[in-house]
Amino acid sequence: MKWWGWGDEDVAFTHDDKPDLGPFLQRHLEIDVSRVSSPRAAFDELRMPEPILPAALRGELEAAAGAEHVSTDRLDRLVHARGKSLRDIVRHRRGALGRLPDVVVRPADEEAVAAVLRAAIDADAVVIPFGGGSNISGSLEPPASESRTIVSLDAGQLDRVLAIDETARLARVQAGVSGPRLEEQLNARGWTLGHFPDSFSYSTLGGWIATRSSGMQSDKYGDVADLTRAVRVVMPGGVLATRPVPATSTGPSVREMVLGSEGRLGVITEATIHVHRLPVRRTILGYLVPNWSAALAAMHEIAAGEAAASVTRVSDANETAFSFATRKAPSPLDRVKSKALAEFLVRRRDFDLDAMCLAFIGYEGSERHVRRQRRLVGRIVARHGGLCIGADPGVLYDQKKFDTPYIRDYLLDRGALADVSETAAPWSLLPVVYDNVIGAAERCFGALGVPGYIMCHLSHSYHSGACLYFTFAIKPSGGREPLDEYGAVKSAIQQAFVDSGATLSHHHAVGTEHAEWLEQDISAPGTDLLRTLFDGVDPGGHLNPGKIV
Ligand SMILES: Cc1cc2nc3c(=O)[nH]c(=O)nc-3n(C[C@H](O)[C@H](O)[C@H](O)COP(=O)(O)OP(=O)(O)OC[C@H]3O[C@@H](n4cnc5c(N)ncnc54)[C@H](O)[C@@H]3O)c2cc1C
Repeated sequence: MKWWGWGDEDVAFTHDDKPDLGPFLQRHLEIDVSRVSSPRAAFDELRMPEPILPAALRGELEAAAGAEHVSTDRLDRLVHARGKSLRDIVRHRRGALGRLPDVVVRPADEEAVAAVLRAAIDADAVVIPFGGGSNISGSLEPPASESRTIVSLDAGQLDRVLAIDETARLARVQAGVSGPRLEEQLNARGWTLGHFPDSFSYSTLGGWIATRSSGMQSDKYGDVADLTRAVRVVMPGGVLATRPVPATSTGPSVREMVLGSEGRLGVITEATIHVHRLPVRRTILGYLVPNWSAALAAMHEIAAGEAAASVTRVSDANETAFSFATRKAPSPLDRVKSKALAEFLVRRRDFDLDAMCLAFIGYEGSERHVRRQRRLVGRIVARHGGLCIGADPGVLYDQKKFDTPYIRDYLLDRGALADVSETAAPWSLLPVVYDNVIGAAERCFGALGVPGYIMCHLSHSYHSGACLYFTFAIKPSGGREPLDEYGAVKSAIQQAFVDSGATLSHHHAVGTEHAEWLEQDISAPGTDLLRTLFDGVDPGGHLNPGKIV
């Protein structure tokens, strides 16, 4: 993982094969894509303070995890310092590293995790559990003023599927396992978890649980909160173990307290999770719908009816335009087909091409199930004026989804700041939330006097509502601190969420980025309850202090 951006060192986003992207970015953000204007600091020139690691504590950590798993290496400390939020990456690129962890420890089993935690607490050190480092809510960064030793506890060695109960369709899995390593082990035995966040390649089961993550196929499989049946957590007072029962009435759910706990209650070492047989057939189809209100209505009808899609995702007109701008150079045949489709949509279906919305709807299961679902959904989309454009766009979307995150670094290189904010609200409120957020962001672009772009898609549909996922970008004015200008837009969007009755985040957790809005989301007694929980479990404030509340 890059220390200054997303993903693999050898992978980068490029406009070279996307002829429409340069003009699109020039038009909306006034960016000249041919100029790399914001170089990043060189690793060798980064100034890092010496680690605060008393010899006695180092000795204890080495005894607990093995000397070869205790590291004060510069790159290790840097990579474990923050997640991948825009603020994290911008500051890393500038060489503004903040308070780094002093030591990275990689225990290999639960016993070693417990010994590390004990040693750290006895020495009055701080422990920050680390999964893949992919969070975007400031969930990992130590407080700037922390003077105690900071231990980053990397769960990466806990990466095995321990057992599969094929009758109950449950797997016992160590929590440090990454997405690809988990699916590889499950797939080898014919199973899948079905949890595919866009950060899949670099995030872990423990991180998903600790941030209440959601994957693109949550419509079928559920969010990680639904998929997690039981947890084992090494806490200061001992090992918390819940049982993998399908349901229970044992008071407020302790399992739920661990979900979203962001390392504040302890280290999740193991979870028992739902697994599903690998589907016989899996397909994602593309659809075009005439406008956003028809798109919302169609998604609502799909969720409320008998259809059981695995993915329901529809982009607004701005995101649709962006998707088309990132298409690879079309072949002459593709060009003819696109022209014919555009003419058909305008002349025969009365579409306004600037308002049209692109949807992806996925189906999984037996051939018969998929055929029936496609028919049901096709009828609903048609009732809202839309039509299916086949499997090709869905195949492309599926292939591109883990590469898209690289675009943020590409934009940063060219002086633009891009980020996301996502929420969930009841179906009845979604149109208002959408309008309020777009209005708030556009007013903010105007007040700052910067070119800006905001786009949205609906994904993750539920019985009572859905997630709205906004992506926004600005080209900073050059006259002020760029992160302040970015912060003004991000705050305006977050405030519009809570003011409109939506949550501060559907699946990116609270961390420090969203903590400001938590009381407005869950009320003052709600945040008091959380404080009491964290203080009760960890009175010395040793576990990832400063996150959530
Ligand atoms: C490009 C990109 C795309 C993304 N797409 C999605 C998406 O589609 N869906 C989604 O839900 N999220 C997404 N995210 C956000 C991020 O991937 C999730 O928040 C993810 O769940 C974090 O997992 P991680 O293993 O990287 O955790 P980390 O970032 O390492 O940690 C996150 C928090 O969990 C705690 N933690 C980690 N492991 C443990 C453990 N074993 N025990 C206790 N606490 C622990 C940490 O202390 C920290 O507070 C995306 C992020 C990026 C950068």
